[in-house]
Amino acid sequence: MQSLPVSEFILSSRNVKKTREVAEILAPFGIVVRSIVDFPEIGEIEEDGDTFEANAAKKAVGPAQTLGRWVIGEDSGLMVDALGGAPGVYSARYSGDGATDDRNNAKLQSELAGVPAEQRGAAYNCTVCLADPTGQVRITVSGRCRGRITTEPRGSGGFGYDPYFLIPEYHRTFGELSSLVKHQISHRSRALALFLQAIRRMQHRGELPR
Ligand code: IMP
Repeated sequence: MQSLPVSEFILSSRNVKKTREVAEILAPFGIVVRSIVDFPEIGEIEEDGDTFEANAAKKAVGPAQTLGRWVIGEDSGLMVDALGGAPGVYSARYSGDGATDDRNNAKLQSELAGVPAEQRGAAYNCTVCLADPTGQVRITVSGRCRGRITTEPRGSGGFGYDPYFLIPEYHRTFGELSSLVKHQISHRSRALALFLQAIRRMQHRGELPR
């Protein structure tokens, strides 16, 4: 993919590992990602939407208006076939108040107890929004990645549900695959590839400073 002139965006996420992934995926294209953590005037944003799109937009719009800057909102989650798409938008807080990755994974395993391997299919979704400095949403794109939920954790890479998310074609979980490989096939890299195309179109039309 052709590289872009340097642009800087603020990512509205306090998740350090997710922010690192977004920054790593966009860096080769000349895009610098700054974390919302650098802007203490932005408080907690309640993720109360029913959809990934609603949450991603909410994360982008308020901070963009407050800061008068271009802000990326990202909302992602795991959708498990045997659980009717749960935990979905509730992935980060699946195990309730004070949820951690370990507790979320423990709950996922208990919900899937007894479900055979061939029925443990799942998909990660990632939705990315871009809000302009007035708070108008200018881009909304999504990417998905399919896999299968293992019964035992494997590997320590990635974050969240990654040690249990098997990519059958690679015989490895996202916990075992390097970040380089994850960035080739993940829901986040697929969404961000579409995001880059949309950015390029906006720059071409003169709607985004170069
Ligand atoms: P949120 O988008 O900040 O609400 O959180 C998304 C949640 O979905 C994370 O806390 C993880 O539990 C899960 N998730 C999203 N993307 C990934 C991923 O790439 N690997 C592992 N877990 C993920």
